[in-house]
Amino acid sequence: MSTPPKPSNPLKAVRGTRDLLPPETALWARVEATARDVFARYGFGEIRTPIFEATELFARGVGEETDIVSKEMYTWEDRARAASEKAQSLTLRPENTAGVVRAYIEHKLGERGDLQKLFYIGPQFRRERPQRGRYRQFWQIGVEVLGPQSSGSESPVRDAEVLEMLATLLDELGVRGWRLELNSVGSSEDRKRYNVALREALAPVKAQMCEDNQRRAETNPLRVLDSKEPADQELINALPKIADYLDDASRAHFAAVLAALDACGVAYAVNPRLVRGLDYYTRTTFEFTVPDGQGLGTQNALLGGGRYDGLSEMLGGPKAPGIGFAIGEDRLILTLQAQDGSKSVDAPHPEWTFAKALDAYIAPMGVERNAAALALARELRRAGLSVEVGDGTFRLKKSFEAADKVARHIVILGEDELATEMATVKTFATGTQVKVSRAELAAALRA
Ligand code: AMP
Repeated sequence: MSTPPKPSNPLKAVRGTRDLLPPETALWARVEATARDVFARYGFGEIRTPIFEATELFARGVGEETDIVSKEMYTWEDRARAASEKAQSLTLRPENTAGVVRAYIEHKLGERGDLQKLFYIGPQFRRERPQRGRYRQFWQIGVEVLGPQSSGSESPVRDAEVLEMLATLLDELGVRGWRLELNSVGSSEDRKRYNVALREALAPVKAQMCEDNQRRAETNPLRVLDSKEPADQELINALPKIADYLDDASRAHFAAVLAALDACGVAYAVNPRLVRGLDYYTRTTFEFTVPDGQGLGTQNALLGGGRYDGLSEMLGGPKAPGIGFAIGEDRLILTLQAQDGSKSVDAPHPEWTFAKALDAYIAPMGVERNAAALALARELRRAGLSVEVGDGTFRLKKSFEAADKVARHIVILGEDELATEMATVKTFATGTQVKVSRAELAAALRA
């Protein structure tokens, strides 16, 4: 039998996806722990929905004409495996609000009567052009607050509370220089009237715009307002503003959100062009950005969100006004790294790594001490210490070098130590070396 040829090109992660490795993953864990802690203080519970759903959910919820649905989804025809099953079009979730609202409807959470305050942390998938801060698999930390009208889900206090919580979370994470921009896109009727006005205003000028905006002017004129094309900015700024198309109720709602933010001391800027791309948004929409040059390049939106008072009905559910946001976790991490000045994994912030974070490194002297070293490690780990075990084939010098990289103490386990039930402990910070009895070892290593 001949040996198979060695593949010449080792396989790589797919374009737009990436591996997250230690020590950087320690920063991801810290960010997620901080988010969980803040969310708990505001009374949120975790929801985990599947990462794939029926394609129709996104077509109906996010909107057929959006960039996400029209060109960015990972969709496939899922074969039936048994006669009782039907083939079905499935999609990797490009965002999680539609999935959460689907679950809200499916589990009749509205019948509980109270406000549902849910958060999620997980990957999303969009076939976008990859660049710094934009990936095809990326992570979002998100929140949804929704419920029947009687639960107060429509109240502007909910909007302000969600925004104030975000301000607290970003502050507790140590993000500097964030900026909150918000706007109101009104009710779906307001938006219909605005869309008509926008189409009329775009008709005579769209030919002078870039190709992308010409297409948007036809398919989804609101998206023209999102455009960053420098040459088109003057024309876009001259287009009608949605604020002039809001009905009295939406206008009063927005004023109440701003007043509550003022009362909390959360700074914001109203951006009349902030309409956001997804069809389900109503009334308040918002984004938090960080200044250019802080790790994100042109992708400076850390997070986005808004109100979606009609989404549940669009998905066949009961009336369930709501508001939510999704933080781009990849972008949050890039920002924290840039602001700390340690972009490289080789020079990480000490708090985000476990370099030197272990209590002890156990160095068995000779392979015949390996099993005893493992048994000692088990005992210490069960006592709550963090421990790494070396290898009996290592020379003493190599053990010391390996231990010095990861642990505060080295525990030397030789024939003598085992015979006398003692261990030799060296503390790297002070250079002191002592013999300690097995009974006192855990306490000594904690010091
Ligand atoms: P959206 O769901 O489009 O409102 O996006 C919410 C947030 O998710 C954005 O502000 C970004 O921070 C993040 N985000 C969206 N798309 C991507 C992507 N392709 N790669 C990384 N982060 C993304």
